[in-house]
Amino acid sequence: MSNQHPAHAESKGQPGAEAPFACRGCLSTRTSLVLDMGQLPLANAFVRLPTDTDDQVREQLTLVFCEACGLVQIREAIDRHKLFSSFLWVIGTSETTKAYARSFSERLRERYKPRADQSPFLVEIASNDGFFLEHYRQVGFDVLGVDPSNLAAEAAERGLPSIRAFFGRAVAEQIVSTRGRADVIVARNVLGHVSELQDLVAGMKHLLAPNGRMVLESPYAFMLRDEVQYDTIFHEHLSYLTVHAVDALMRRYGMKLTEVGYCRMNGGSFVIEVAHEDADVPANAQSALDFEELIDLHRPSGWRRFAEAVPAQRAALRTLLTGLEAEGRCVVGYGAAAKAMTMLNYCGITPQLLRAMGDANPRKQGLLCPGVRMPVVSPEALMALEPDYILIGAWNFKDEIIRFFRERLGYQNKFIVPLPMPYVI
Ligand SMILES: [Zn+2]
Repeated sequence: MSNQHPAHAESKGQPGAEAPFACRGCLSTRTSLVLDMGQLPLANAFVRLPTDTDDQVREQLTLVFCEACGLVQIREAIDRHKLFSSFLWVIGTSETTKAYARSFSERLRERYKPRADQSPFLVEIASNDGFFLEHYRQVGFDVLGVDPSNLAAEAAERGLPSIRAFFGRAVAEQIVSTRGRADVIVARNVLGHVSELQDLVAGMKHLLAPNGRMVLESPYAFMLRDEVQYDTIFHEHLSYLTVHAVDALMRRYGMKLTEVGYCRMNGGSFVIEVAHEDADVPANAQSALDFEELIDLHRPSGWRRFAEAVPAQRAALRTLLTGLEAEGRCVVGYGAAAKAMTMLNYCGITPQLLRAMGDANPRKQGLLCPGVRMPVVSPEALMALEPDYILIGAWNFKDEIIRFFRERLGYQNKFIVPLPMPYVI
C-alpha cells in the first residue's frame, strides 16, 4: 500500500480559541469532572540520555464523564502522530499474552470458521507487530493488519500483510476496494486509544460484511473504578469504556451488541461481539447493561469514591517508600509499562526512592523512565542491585512476575503490589 496516513483532517477547534470540549463518542459538550491528575509527562516518552528533553514536556491529564452517552474519557488530546510514531511497546513478550493469543484465536476459529475449505477474511485493527495476526492465520483466517506504528512494516516483513495507517473510514474504503469486506474484524485495545473515535467506528461499519462479526476487547472501566487502576489513565489512553458507552456508540453507527464476555487481560477487559443492526442475530447485552445500572457505573455519582481513592493511594505509596528509604532498604521496580510511568510520575517517586526499573523488553533496557528518570535495566541487572523490595509496575502480570523472580532468579525478598492500595507480600 502506498499511502502513509489517512488523509482526513484532525477535528480540532481553532488554535488558541478555548472551544468547549466535545465528547469523542457523541460530540456532546455536557461533561463533568471525574479526576484531575495534574500535569504528567507522556507515559511512553522514554529517553536515552540525561540531556534529552522529550519527557520534560508535561501535559494536563483530566478524566471527565459525558453526561449524554456515559463515555469516560480524558479531555486532553495530544497529536497522535507524536504518540505512536516510535512505539516501544511490543505485544507478546509475556507468557500470559502468549497463552491468551492461543485461546483467543482458537475461539475465533470455533465461532467464525464454519467450514474447513473456507478462509474467512479477518482484519485486525492495531495489529502491532503481527503477534496475534500470526495466530489468526494459523487457525485458518486470511489476515490483514492495520497499525499506525513502525511495527506494521516489521509484521509485513514477516509475511503478515499489514498496512501502516490509522484505521478509519478512508482506510476501510481502501481495503474494501482492494480486498473486499471483512468477515471478522478484531480490535483489541483500540477503542480506548483512538482520538477519532467516530471515524474509527464509521470505518468498522463500512468494512464489516453484511453477516460479519466484530470482536472488541478493551479494559473494562468497572475494573478501573473498583480496583483503583488510575495508572491506566495516560495521554495515549483516551477513553475508559463501559458496555453502556460501547452500546451507545455502536447504535449510533447502525450496529448492535450480540454478546458481552470478559477476560483477565489488561487488569480485566470486556470482549464484545458486534454485528450490523439488521444482521440475523439478536442483540444480547441486557444483563451487562443491567449490571452497570445496578452499580452506578454509568453515572458520575458512581465515580466519586474512585476520585477519593486515587490521592489516598498516592499518599500511602509515598509513605511506604519514604519509610523504606529511611530504613536504608533498597527498593526497585519491575515492569516499565506506561501505567507504571503514570504512577511513578503522579506519585512523584524519585530514583532516590526507587533505584531502577527492570523490564524484560530489550527495547526499553538502557533507557531512562520519562519524567522520573530511573534507569530501565534487565531483570538480571536488577537482581545485581540486591533489592529488598520489588515494586510491581506491571501489576496485571503480577503472578507471572513473582513466579519469574522466585523460580528463575532465586529472589527471596519482598514485593510491593501498588494497587488498589499498596501492600507488601
Ligand atoms: Zn458522549
